[in-house]
Amino acid sequence: MKPNFSGLRALVTGAGKGIGRDTAKALHASGAKVVAVTRTNADLVSLAKECPGIEPVCVDLGDWEATEKALGGIGPVDLLVNNAGVALLQPFIESTKEIFDSRPMFPSARSFNVNVRAVLQVSQIVAKGMINRGVAGSIVNISSMVAYVTYPGLTTYCSTKGAITMLTKAMAMELGPHKIRVNSVNPTVVLTDMGKKVSADPKFAKKLLKRHPLRKFAEVEDVVNSILFLLSDSSASTTGSGILVDSGYLAS
Ligand code: NDP
Repeated sequence: MKPNFSGLRALVTGAGKGIGRDTAKALHASGAKVVAVTRTNADLVSLAKECPGIEPVCVDLGDWEATEKALGGIGPVDLLVNNAGVALLQPFIESTKEIFDSRPMFPSARSFNVNVRAVLQVSQIVAKGMINRGVAGSIVNISSMVAYVTYPGLTTYCSTKGAITMLTKAMAMELGPHKIRVNSVNPTVVLTDMGKKVSADPKFAKKLLKRHPLRKFAEVEDVVNSILFLLSDSSASTTGSGILVDSGYLAS
């Protein structure tokens, strides 16, 4: 059964493409007012055409000051999906500080700033509003199965997702008394732009697929359904937790 979010306002980060875009569309279809946040304006223009009424916010979430400016006065939000993320391929031995965090010379190479720090910052902004209004909000962080298992060439990315596991728990602990729930969704490969990039080698992709008991990667829709479940009252007693959408990979 599809949840009904009429009367609620939802903010989705990384709403321009992939999982975030379909999450924004699903929330819009289920009656929520949607604030769509991403960094490529053309994606927001096309999304607003598909979903009239969506509020677009164009900002680079790796930039703390710009994010504060763009979202500091965003107003009431009941549901938050921290989805924006970057996966930059680099083996451990070659990992650089530019990939790890932000440097002005490398505007897109900022894994921890986007994947972890922005989750903290956007959640702080939204949670303060929820606490002030006394609403029982729900926050979903899009993590990955690589929070629990390694993936070749993704040392820094795996580390960011591991950090999200504890950030999710810490937020759940502090926000629980305010009736705000915080959970994560942890998918295996999903064939979005990001998923295609990290599974581009056909030999590796075939081997990887074989390790999944269901012999398939996850579909965007599977991930979106789990996000909607965690946002909804159907998961009212679940917080500090995560849903694996991994075709059984962690059981293999
Ligand atoms: P995509 O690359 O398809 O889309 C990511 C979206 O996030 C884009 O709209 C992108 O905008 C936006 N974004 C990235 N960086 C920033 C930033 N600094 N500021 C604002 N927006 C930003 O990724 P997916 O949809 O595949 O991934 C979504 C989430 O799911 C991520 O957190 C990812 O780690 C996670 N995930 C993905 C998996 C996969 O295989 N696809 C597997 C497991 C987890 P732009 O294109 O303009 O940069």
